[in-house]
Order: sequence, then structure tokens, then C-alpha cells
Amino acid sequence: MRSKATITLLGAAGEVTGSCTLLQTPRGRIVIDFGLFQGTPAQERRNLVVPEIGWSTIDAVIVTHAHVDHCGRLGMLPRLHCDAPILCTPITADLLPKVLKSSANLQSIRMEEFREGTAPIARVVDPPPPPSTEPARGHVEPPVLYTAREVEQVVHQIRAVAYETWHEVRPGLRIRLHDASHIIGSASVEVAWDDETGVRSVMFSGDLGPAANPLLRSRPPLPPVDVVVMESTNGARDIPRVTAGTQVLSDLLARVSARGGRLLVPTFSLGRAQIVHYRLAELARMDALHGMHVYVDTPLAIRAAELHGRHPELLSEIPSALARRGDDPMEFSALHKVFNRRNSLKLAAGTSPAVILAGSGFLDAGPVLHHLASLVSEDRNAILFAGHQLPGSLGHGMLHGARAIELKEGIFEVCAERVHLEGFSGHADRGDLLDWLCTREGGSPRVLLNHGEQSSREVLGARIQSDLGLTVESPTPLLPTKV
Ligand SMILES: [Zn+2]
Repeated sequence: MRSKATITLLGAAGEVTGSCTLLQTPRGRIVIDFGLFQGTPAQERRNLVVPEIGWSTIDAVIVTHAHVDHCGRLGMLPRLHCDAPILCTPITADLLPKVLKSSANLQSIRMEEFREGTAPIARVVDPPPPPSTEPARGHVEPPVLYTAREVEQVVHQIRAVAYETWHEVRPGLRIRLHDASHIIGSASVEVAWDDETGVRSVMFSGDLGPAANPLLRSRPPLPPVDVVVMESTNGARDIPRVTAGTQVLSDLLARVSARGGRLLVPTFSLGRAQIVHYRLAELARMDALHGMHVYVDTPLAIRAAELHGRHPELLSEIPSALARRGDDPMEFSALHKVFNRRNSLKLAAGTSPAVILAGSGFLDAGPVLHHLASLVSEDRNAILFAGHQLPGSLGHGMLHGARAIELKEGIFEVCAERVHLEGFSGHADRGDLLDWLCTREGGSPRVLLNHGEQSSREVLGARIQSDLGLTVESPTPLLPTKV
């Protein structure tokens, strides 16, 4: 028999959240990522149903990066009686405890808000949204997947593995992490095992960054492997990177500053927040902030920015050179770090010209909502949407012409300027994904697509077949694929 290994997509198959894949080999069993399903309340409740795969006998859980759609269910491992080591890069090992603690805390807050009827209000009221069969958030009991105490248990399972070094999981089964250039510490995972025919190998891409990431070093070429399990998030799109340049941002700052206004950037903590932060630092070095002060209103984003300054070896050429000569590429005198809610509310109550980076990136919860309430109805202010907005979220509605919105503080006319810049994405686009496969070091791997809407998988799959001549499959969730 040639091979007894199988790959099963347990999440993020034909969709972009809930990443989790099982690799079974004759030498051992590995789970790659254990992320949250995100979006509607119905999507969130899917997190409660974990496929039964014999979690207590898993040999290792590998985490590609610290985004919650890849790591946010790790806190459930104690309930699943899984005490396997959690393997990830040293940077991800630094971020994971903070991400999981914050996730446990958020779950507990949301349950409290549900019981007390105090869930955040964040919705479009004009034009009236189409009737929905889905109950709104706050009207459905949110899932509590794990507690802070369970996170403490899980933290002890985390083991850091350096990039580009083989790590033996069990005799005859090993992994090697390669930089994925998606967020700091992100990795693609190469797994190799011995069988009776020799060595078999699979590369799990994780989320891949753009080929030219302004902040992070480039991805290494794809090593020769038998199978590639590849993400396809932007598999149907080419993203115009030019819009992410500092010039566009500088022009926006000049406009808002001239009006004496504020610029709000809704953003998640890891990834895009650091790219926007870095662009603002570049402008500060060029003396082109137009008198604006910059506030980062998320402790996790502040920590991630610090990690960039401490790891020049992971950065692209210019920020790396700055960091190596002791000039932190993320620091500048007009930068302010907001660590707690009291200072965040104080900032929102002010009116001095400022750029504010705050979460959530979808404008559905978090400190961004009180900043929005304070500035959305004045046309001197602006809101920069630096990435994809989830359909149904307030952010999506704001981008698509909302004239009035309701927040906890009341109903507001939307008068602030709205700007959409896509080029800050930390995801590879179609050209980058094809390029990663094309510039491989050798072999003709079979490609399995995951982590993308079904339409993206189809478009990208067709291009991989026609342009590169590789065999492509889009596995059905929960059905094992022999490899
Ligand atoms: Zn990611």
C-alpha cells in the first residue's frame, strides 16, 4: 500500500473562518489550527459543535498564527481532554496567551450583556435594513466556549518552535515552520513523515501575506512537497496595492487636519493595524502627519507593534534597517498608547485633531463604538475602512451608504467622510497565491484548497490548473482526502 495518510478539513472549507485541519499519518495525528467560526450568531454557535476526532490521542496541535479564526478554539482543548503540545513560532507563542485570555474575557462579557440586556447597539437605521430571518446579536445567547481558567491550562501546552528548523513530533513524524508574511510570527507548516515508500510531505499554507508586504520580510519559496493545502481567501481577486501607499494616507490626513477633524480607523488588533501604524510612522519620519497625534486604542495591537521593533530579522528591508540601528520603526513622538477603557473614553470625549486606531474592525463591538459615536455626525471627521467588512456588520453598512446609524448613545446622522482603502490587506491576492506555487523549489504538488469562499476556490483552482498545470481539489468539509 502506497500511503495511509488522510487530510480532513474540519473548518474553513468553502468559507473563511473556523480553520482546523486533521492530518492522519501512519506515524501520528496532527491538528493544524483550531480557530473560531465568526460572523452571524448562527455561525458563532457552530463553535460549540466540535467534530469527534479522538482529541485525547492527538500528537500535536500546530498553530499557524494568532488570528482568532485560526487559534480561537484552543481554549476548548481541556474540555476535549487534549493535552497535546501546541506548536507555533516564538512570536505566536508570545501572542497566543493574550489572544486567548482576551477571547475568554470577551465571551464572559457577552454572556453578561446578554443576561442583562445590555449588548452593544451598532446598526444602520437609514436606509432601513432588509428584513432578516436571523435574530440580531444580543437577542441570541452567545456561546461560552471556555473560561480564563481553562486558558491558563492551555497556555502550559504551548511550545515555541523556531522558523526553518525541523521539530520531531513523534519518531518518523516532523514539522518545519516557514514565514508566511501574513502577520508577525505567522507560519506555513511543512509536515513530513516516513512510510514504506520513503518520505511523504505536506505543506499547510496557513494564511499567506502579500508577496510584497510593506512591513514583514518576504515569504521563502515553497519547498518540494507532495501536497499543498492552500488558503484561497482572495483567490478570485487582485488587490491594487498602490492604494496602500503613504501618499494616499498623507493626503487624507492633510484633508482631515485642514478641517480640524479626527480620523477613525476601525481595525482588528493583529496585522492590518500594524500596517496602518507603520505607514503612520513613515509619515511621522517624513514630517507629514499634518499635526495629527496618533492613538492606538488596543493593548494587543500595542504589544504586536512592540514585537516588530524587537525582531528586525522578521521585517522587510526598510523597517529592518531602522530597527537594527536602534530606531524602532513603529515608534514616533506623536504616538500615544491607550491601555484602558478610562483613557479610551477620555480620548473619545476630546476634539483635538487625532488619528485613532481602535477595534473591532467590523464596528460591531469594542472601543471603536464610543469613538464612532463622538465623531460620526460631523463632516470634519473621517472614517478609514482599511479592509474587508463582514456583510451584516455596521462597518459593511457604513461602507455601503448608511445615512443614519444607531449606537448605545443614540441615533446619529452619518456626516463623516468615509474612505475605503483595500491595499492594507495582509492577505495574498490571486497573483500572489499563484506566484507562491509557481516559484516553488521543485516537484509538482497536488493542491487542496481551503480557507476561501466556494467561488474563490473555484476561480483560483481553475487558474492553478490552467496556468501551472497542477492537480487541484476543493475537499468537502469533514470528508477525509487520501494523500
Ligand atoms: Zn489570518
